[in-house]
Formats: sequence, C-alpha cells, structure tokens
Amino acid sequence: MPLLELRNVTSHYGNVQALKGISLTVEKGEIITLLGSNGAGKSTTLRTISGLVPGSGGEILFEGRPIHNLPAEDIVRLGIAHVPEGRRIFPGLTVTENIMLGASNRKHVSKAELRAGVDEMFAIFPDLQRLSKALGWSLSGGQQQMLAVARGLMARPALLMLDEPSLGLAPIIVQQLFSVIRDIRSRGTTILLVEQNANMALAVADRGYVLETGTLTVSGRASELLSNEEVRAAYLGGR
Ligand code: ATP
Repeated sequence: MPLLELRNVTSHYGNVQALKGISLTVEKGEIITLLGSNGAGKSTTLRTISGLVPGSGGEILFEGRPIHNLPAEDIVRLGIAHVPEGRRIFPGLTVTENIMLGASNRKHVSKAELRAGVDEMFAIFPDLQRLSKALGWSLSGGQQQMLAVARGLMARPALLMLDEPSLGLAPIIVQQLFSVIRDIRSRGTTILLVEQNANMALAVADRGYVLETGTLTVSGRASELLSNEEVRAAYLGGR
C-alpha cells in the first residue's frame, strides 16, 4: 500500500480549476518531486493534501485511509507536515521556541521529550544550535528556511511536504539544504518536494511528476526525467 495516494483529485479557487484530476502515489521511504512552471498547481496540490484548500473531487488516501474530508489539524496529527513556501517563522520568538512550536500538534509531549526533539534538530542543523537564542527576524533567508524545515520535522511526520525550499537561497545554502533532505529521508521520513530547481530536485528524488496547468503530463524515475527531452527543454534549461 502506498503511504500517500491521490486518485483523480480536483481543486478549485472560485471558478478557477487549479487541479484537473491528479493521480499520484508516494511510497514509504521515497523522495518524490513535483515539478512544473509557475501557476501549474504544485502548491495547490500540497495545500489540498494538507487540507488547507478543500479538494472538490477525487480521493486522497494516507496509509490507505481517506483523508480528503478531514480538517487540516487532523491531517497533521495523522503524520503529514507541510512546510509552505515563504517560511512563516515567528520573528519575535527565538530559534529554539520556533522549533518547539512544531510539536504543538503532538499530544502529551513532556518537556524532556521536547528538549530531546530540539537536540535532534540541532544535530541535523548545527547552524541552528549556534543560533538557538537568536530571534527569528535576525536570521538570514537560508537560516529561516532551515528553521522552517526543523519545525516541520518536530511534528514527527511520516510524510514531510516541502514547498520550494530552495527559493531565494544562495547556491551553497541550496546544496546544504538538499543534503539535509537526503539526511532526513535516511532517518525514515518520506518526502514530497515541490521545486522550481528541477536539476537539484531530480538529483535527490527517486521519482518525479511534472504538472502543467493542473494536469500531470509526465512521470517516471528521476533518472528517466533527467534524460527526457521534453522535461530537459522545459525545466532543465534545455541542456
Ligand atoms: P507557484 O510556484 O507560482 O506557486 P504553483 O505551481 O505552485 O506555482 P499554484 O500556486 O498551485 O501553482 O496555483 C495554481 C493555479 O491556481 C494558478 O492559476 C493560480 O493563479 C491559482 N491560484 C493559486 N492560489 C490561488 C488563490 N488563493 N486564489 C485564486 N487562485 C489561486
């Protein structure tokens, strides 16, 4: 059974149909990337899975269980964490406080467990440990992105969905971030990654799907997509 399955999922914003029937699977332990140009519906796909926009048709199954009619807070509790585009960290809270907030979906977490979780995040993100007492607003873009991912991981998700994590980051930071993504997967978290940076995304992913104006057009192993002429022309700079 796939960890996540979308069957013919549609989604609307008013009269605009953003998803026109998306079917995809994510197996446990995979890194799956969703590629596509601006406005193709990548963010909407993640928002529909996490219940932030209501799907208007089709089915979404998580561990075989239908989740498309559940409220967002129930979906996060089942083990799906969503790190949206734009980071949204709390500027007036410290790095440690921001990380701890990621566990707020978990019931009965003791102080010791919370502390252990934060220490685990510091092991993955040494820069955040150095900055543990710094306030959110004082962090660079790359540090904020790492913090957003750490906060998402504190929910102990079975599935981590990342929306454009590399957006606006310097190339060296993007490299670091993608190595963290590999590391997170090796610790047992399945990842659904939305990216404009198709080269980087296909380098870490097992499989990928290409979305064009609300429809999936191409899917396959990352290595197949890297050598697919259409994908190369449209998303890999034609090289
Ligand atoms: P981007 O990377 O630019 O966010 P995307 O592939 O993630 O692109 P979506 O943000 O999912 O695309 O947008 C899909 C379609 O839905 C677009 O036509 C967009 O204009 C529309 N759309 C997105 N959000 C809204 C909204 N809140 N209200 C109305 N239309 C929206």
